[in-house]
Amino acid sequence: MTFPYYRRLSSRQKAIYRASDEVVEILLANPAKAKRSAAGVRRALQMDGNPATQRKEVARAANSLVDELCRQLAVDPVKIKVLTRRPSYAESELHGLYTFEKGKQAQITVWMRTAFLRTLLHEVIHHLDYRLLSLADSFHTEGFFKRESSLARQLLGDRKAKPKTEKKPKPKTEKKPKPGQLKLPFE
Ligand SMILES: [Zn+2]
Repeated sequence: MTFPYYRRLSSRQKAIYRASDEVVEILLANPAKAKRSAAGVRRALQMDGNPATQRKEVARAANSLVDELCRQLAVDPVKIKVLTRRPSYAESELHGLYTFEKGKQAQITVWMRTAFLRTLLHEVIHHLDYRLLSLADSFHTEGFFKRESSLARQLLGDRKAKPKTEKKPKPKTEKKPKPGQLKLPFE
């Protein structure tokens, strides 16, 4: 099954889409070690006190988690930038931003929000699409979301065994995702 936007893609893009859809797992060499790094991010997210200090601590922990993931998967590192708020240039963005320029280190920008770790992992999957799977484009396919879940399972533990331990109530002011937002090929 493909998402509806598939029909609008060029034949070259369709081929990339299908290649993306075929890979459903990202297997870490040492999930226990990566899980400890993920726990460090969670601890930083739960810190009380000065938001600037917390942001720094979250950024440090997020960088060490993603460094560990990149090491285990033998791909180029990606720098994580953490903002306290959603930047104005990303007004329509629900997730983080994954950016790279030729010859420069790739960067993921995320902001402090609900489901921070899930958002971070989502962006890491974009990085892995290029650097691990060598895809020329990174589409949101079913395979993409399965890869995201497989990584989350290894890092956050078995969510079925411990339901809802990760979830925090959403603030009422948070914008609801527009229907179809996830079907966009790029973000
Ligand atoms: Zn995305």
